[in-house]
Amino acid sequence: MKKIEGLSASRGIVIGPVFCLANDTPVSIPRYRITEKEAEVQWLHFESALEKSKKEILLLKDTRNKDQSEILEAHLMMLSDPEFIPQIKKSLFTELINIEAVLKDKIDETSGMLRTTGDSYLAERAVDIEDAFGRVLGHLLQNTDGSKGGTSSNFIPPGAILVARNIKPSDAFTLKDSGISGIILEEGGATSHVAILARAARIPAVMGVTGILDILSDGEEIILDATDGFVITEATNDLVSLYRSRQKTSLRLQAETAVEHSTLIHARSETADGTVIGLRANIAYAEEAIDALEEGAEGVGLFRSEFLFLGTAILPGEEVQFEAYRTTVENMNGLPVVIRTLDAGADKMIAEQIELGEKNPLLGWRAVRYCLDRREFFKIQLRALLRASYFGDLRIMFPMISGVDELDAVLDVLEEAKAECVQEGLPFNRNIKIGIMIEIPAAAVCADFLAKKVDFMSIGTNDLIQYTMAVDRENPKVAHLYDCYNPAVLRLIRQTIEAGLSAGTEVSMCGEMAGNPGSVFLLLGIGLRCFSMTPPLIAPVKELIRKISLSDAKELADAAFELSAAREIRKLIQGKLKTYE
Ligand code: PEP
Ligand code: MG
Repeated sequence: MKKIEGLSASRGIVIGPVFCLANDTPVSIPRYRITEKEAEVQWLHFESALEKSKKEILLLKDTRNKDQSEILEAHLMMLSDPEFIPQIKKSLFTELINIEAVLKDKIDETSGMLRTTGDSYLAERAVDIEDAFGRVLGHLLQNTDGSKGGTSSNFIPPGAILVARNIKPSDAFTLKDSGISGIILEEGGATSHVAILARAARIPAVMGVTGILDILSDGEEIILDATDGFVITEATNDLVSLYRSRQKTSLRLQAETAVEHSTLIHARSETADGTVIGLRANIAYAEEAIDALEEGAEGVGLFRSEFLFLGTAILPGEEVQFEAYRTTVENMNGLPVVIRTLDAGADKMIAEQIELGEKNPLLGWRAVRYCLDRREFFKIQLRALLRASYFGDLRIMFPMISGVDELDAVLDVLEEAKAECVQEGLPFNRNIKIGIMIEIPAAAVCADFLAKKVDFMSIGTNDLIQYTMAVDRENPKVAHLYDCYNPAVLRLIRQTIEAGLSAGTEVSMCGEMAGNPGSVFLLLGIGLRCFSMTPPLIAPVKELIRKISLSDAKELADAAFELSAAREIRKLIQGKLKTYE
């Protein structure tokens, strides 16, 4: 029997065979030679992806207004184009390169040509081609054979425990439907995006298990205890039986808790002494808004829009984005929906950022820094957001704002996007609320200046802790230093909350700290009144909030701010929580 320790990222116990992924999943389109026979099969795949895309567009079209319907009609026509489609077939059979690469080349070539004409009508057609055929490409990539096109979680046998050095957030995004029973990564931390997505999908996960790939081989049965954060290999029969019974107990408890929590979904989110507390959901795609409502969310506090842009060959155009944002606000039935503009970079890179190969991407060309350099591209997102704001309480949030200069630059682009919408007669909410994330220490320090310029601020502790403590949130070697109770982090949080209070600007929190019972207790005491978290955490947090009195929370916060070490603060909070059990 061997026991290998890691960090618990998503609780649960699993016993099952492993599937080892040797490398990261490629983001780029696979490109490889094929035989004529393979070309025939791939052409059939293409035709089926084409049909799927047409059906999807027809369904979408039925639910859209006249203008959008016309655009979708144009997409449909493109997908039946009597010249374009035969050209793709010809290239496939003459070049004998896989269909995904052939299609991507054809899209790039055609849209590039249309753009260089300088004719704005034709340039718009380029966007349509990218949107329409990007959809087909998406379907093809989902069907890509893992052995040729690189590994992807789509190809992992259902029920297997996935073992990898790391997986890309774009792949983790598909976890929910992948049938994977557990995840073990050599890298990663509890607030890495993969961990966040695993929790949302309720898949047990352990991160930072160094060297695990050298030990395990495909199909080997293991025990994954993701609650306590370790892996057991070569277990004796007795140990397997013990863990099977633990797994049963844990599943039974989970089911019981789920029943208890279901009664809480419609309960008011307020403290024992009657202060109403906002509980919102963090989501990564439009459909998750439905899960969020089912879990009792009173809105979306963070929609990570970058997931629309990841793992796709063609970046989504204005229409595709508009549909996603509009669906989300419509799914939320009038509740607030905070959509964060593209936060690509660091661990969530799009093609151009990958190509740049920065030495230090965490401190590099990320989020609004990238968007401000790609102004026209950024404006497409802002226009899509503005247009979707017409259909509900959509609010725009800018990530990684470092100070007033950067905020002003971003607001300028927003004004331009608004002016374009006005000029083109596109309706949008003229009173749309604008906010920023406070996730860079510089922003927290100057939160008083920033608060005066926005409607809301949301504290992103995942990055705020990383940048305050100079600790990569995905590096297990330094995970012990990544601590939300470090007094420096707590001071920055308090400073931000106070800045919001004195400017009359709403402050919320959407980092993982907002879903942790101990920190919720403390944060209530510091004055935070709105929390956003992964949907499954809403009910347990609400349960706790309903037991706590604000005076108790305030007392706890006062005592915590007297302490100089994170471990002392943690001990204090844990002691206090015990009195509520
Ligand atoms: C954060 O940094 O706290 C946050 C919510 O954003 P992300 O985790 O996507 O970086
Ligand atoms: Mg962040």
